[in-house]
Amino acid sequence: MLTADRISLNTATVKEQWTLADCIDGCVRHGFGGISPWRDKLQEMGVDAAAKAIRDAGLGVSGLCRGGWYTAEGALTQAVIDDNHRAVDEAAAIGAECLVMVVGGLPEGSKDIRGAREIVRDGLGKTLEHGRKAGVPIAIEPLHPMYAADRAVVSTMGQALDLCDELGDGIGVAMDVYHVWWDPELSAQIKRAGKSRMLAYHICDWLNPTKDLLTDRGMMGDGVIDIAGIRAEVEAIGFNGLNEVEIFSAETWWKADPDAVMKTIIERAAIC
Ligand code: ZN
Repeated sequence: MLTADRISLNTATVKEQWTLADCIDGCVRHGFGGISPWRDKLQEMGVDAAAKAIRDAGLGVSGLCRGGWYTAEGALTQAVIDDNHRAVDEAAAIGAECLVMVVGGLPEGSKDIRGAREIVRDGLGKTLEHGRKAGVPIAIEPLHPMYAADRAVVSTMGQALDLCDELGDGIGVAMDVYHVWWDPELSAQIKRAGKSRMLAYHICDWLNPTKDLLTDRGMMGDGVIDIAGIRAEVEAIGFNGLNEVEIFSAETWWKADPDAVMKTIIERAAIC
């Protein structure tokens, strides 16, 4: 049974209701073990103020969301590299366990997914150099293949781990059950990742039917993912980090009372 002290709140879960300051207070009030801010909320509060508030609250930081988007300008540009360096610095400032990377989809008008993957590899390499200096691990989040065109040309754990093998130390994966639950190779790839490459673990549920590709994620227990089973496999490799709850839910949870969302998370965590 997962208790609140093992849970981290990804701020996207209550993004419509709470500022980062509200999220920090909410995590303390509900006994959560940690938080994972998005950069927009972090910048809104101010990095230094947020770092202090999180530290004072005694919360862990399971990640910073997010860097990446290497393909956004059609080629790897200095602006994209610089923005990722800033993301690394922000992650360091708040003591994040890792910087979560959403690597980017196909460039505008492109049909060259192989080329996009090369841009991503080169970009990750650049960010990794800076991450190593700053002591911030880089976590590739493979996204469900339905996002390959617009968000991430890295779709599976196996593909992400191949990139890690190519790029070396200081890089691993952020595994989100929403994106990888369907993968027949999942168990084998969790074992392959091992504790050293499993940098973050995100939970929510897959609703059937799903009404929106981006903003219809479910609360744990409302969908079809065997979250308890996957968690057992993740813990079997020695992962003992926070379970980060990340739910994009325009019609349900973003409209709910945020304290009720926090309570529901704790109730549902008990079954995963
Ligand atoms: Zn995630």
